[in-house]
Amino acid sequence: MSTSRLALVTGGIGGLGTAICLRLSELGHRVIAADLDARADALARFHERTRAQATSIQFRALDVTDHDRCREQLTAWEEELGPIDILVHAAGITRDQTLRKMTLEAWREVLAVDLDSAFHLCRHLVPRMMERGFGRIVHISSVNGQTGQFGQTNYAAAKAGLHGFTMSLARECARHGITVNSIAPGYIDTDMTRAIREDIRERIVASIPVGRMGRPEDIARTVAFLCADEADFITGALIPVNGGQFMSF
Ligand code: NAD
Repeated sequence: MSTSRLALVTGGIGGLGTAICLRLSELGHRVIAADLDARADALARFHERTRAQATSIQFRALDVTDHDRCREQLTAWEEELGPIDILVHAAGITRDQTLRKMTLEAWREVLAVDLDSAFHLCRHLVPRMMERGFGRIVHISSVNGQTGQFGQTNYAAAKAGLHGFTMSLARECARHGITVNSIAPGYIDTDMTRAIREDIRERIVASIPVGRMGRPEDIARTVAFLCADEADFITGALIPVNGGQFMSF
């Protein structure tokens, strides 16, 4: 049985983020769902879905691309709520374009949200976790970071980079009771994948051996597994959750 802890879930009101918040809360953790506050519809959906667990899940506005703001906000939240022992970094965006058409803005935006952010969050949280001798960090990478994807040089570079970050940080943290792992979801049914054209979605599903897209709960269960107190011998790993779409060893 894991100790009840304070978890920070970035991208916390998104499709995967919401499912992760709900699962961690079901396991007895208190959860900060940190996300942009500009998306009123998504925020309303999040409040609706988490209403029954509103005492343990709270929304806080955070832009993970802002290094100084991350430091200020995380400091303030820890002063108010106690130490953040679990970080699940699920904030992410896509700005798909083939390289020949990709703007510098689309490159920088994706790298800022999907990769730089891991530095902003961990730079603040890891020294404190080291002092306490405990931490669980899970980065949500992507199968497309493992395989590359047409139109996603920015996204695949960021997600592959995120796992490089995971492996290096795992080595630095290993003697301090902190595990650092990545999850590489395949295609999961959320707003991100609903934005894909219907005919392309059909082709994607046909390429998944299990025969369906993943559900956010598939990822949330894997996060919960990695965040357990007992999962202390798993670190630096990339866990694929992809219905068999990409198999490797
Ligand atoms: P989503 O769009 O539903 O959620 C992403 C969340 O990140 C949104 O709520 C968004 O507001 C938030 N976000 C964006 N920019 C931010 C910023 N600057 N600061 C804070 N929050 C910000 O997408 P999702 O499907 O839930 O994806 C969650 C994570 O999983 C992402 O990192 C994504 O790349 C990854 N992923 C998703 C899939 C999939 O099939 N859905 C597959 C592989 C990886």
